[in-house]
Amino acid sequence: MCPVYDLHTHTTASDGQLSPEELVIQARACGIDVLAVTDHDTTSGIAQAVDEAQRQNIKLLPGIELSVSWRDKDFHIVGLDIDPDNKALKKSIQKTRVLREERAIEIGKRLGESGVANAYHEAREIAGDHTLTRSHFARVLIKQGFAKDTREVFRKYLIHNKPGFVKTKWIRMDDGIKLIKDSGGVTILAHPMRYHITASWLRRFLVAFKESGGNGIEVVTGSSTADEIRMAASHAERFKLMGSAGSDFHGFDDSWIKLGQLAGMPKSITPVWEHWSA
Ligand code: AMP
Ligand code: MN
Ligand code: MN
Ligand code: MN
Repeated sequence: MCPVYDLHTHTTASDGQLSPEELVIQARACGIDVLAVTDHDTTSGIAQAVDEAQRQNIKLLPGIELSVSWRDKDFHIVGLDIDPDNKALKKSIQKTRVLREERAIEIGKRLGESGVANAYHEAREIAGDHTLTRSHFARVLIKQGFAKDTREVFRKYLIHNKPGFVKTKWIRMDDGIKLIKDSGGVTILAHPMRYHITASWLRRFLVAFKESGGNGIEVVTGSSTADEIRMAASHAERFKLMGSAGSDFHGFDDSWIKLGQLAGMPKSITPVWEHWSA
């Protein structure tokens, strides 16, 4: 039997709803053999996940999902099998943390101007000491009755041109790739079909990604349709990138995305795990 992989998941270290330990326990229960924990711009959940993975006898890959900018656009790069103690990576994480904090204060201010009281403080309270993301603001807005669910709250408040969107200059794409590679990791473009950019911009991005040392793209994600898998696979083939598979699981009540329940990798694609010993 082939091992079951899920190489993109979140915990309470960023905007996931399960603690690292709970995530690993659920992953085991869902039949996952190899799990990557890839929180937004942080590795703070990795140590707990590694400990629990030993108890559960499941292979845990330390990972991260880096927010990066290329031209004026934002992308997410998943780093797999990284060394969470790498100095340069830790320094960059700290810088991004400051950036996210400034951005969150600005989001709170702008939402305040749209009649939402105390959004920053409430979002910070939900996130605790962890990475503060737009998902935390989404929860605040829903709790205050400004929208009925996550979809609606992003559409009305948190995306480009809406009151709670603040343009952020993340680290450069090529710097993000270098950080991951220097910490021993493999670089994967996350959810390639979810950037709201044209196909030609995505191809332009992939040229730059490949030139900067990008290794693979997520051909299979938890929300991929059959068409999206075909498109992502054709990009992987064209740019000679490996294929990864990750659900982008954030929690059970969050959406239809299921932990570890992923479509198979198309036969034409070299999976990122081809040379791993599972
Ligand atoms: P941030 O990194 O702070 O910009 O937050 C990004 C996170 O917000 C993503 O990782 C998703 O979890 C969530 N998100 C972004 N856009 C949407 C959307 N349209 N619907 C639901 N969740 C979203
Ligand atoms: Mn997220
Ligand atoms: Mn993402
Ligand atoms: Mn993600």
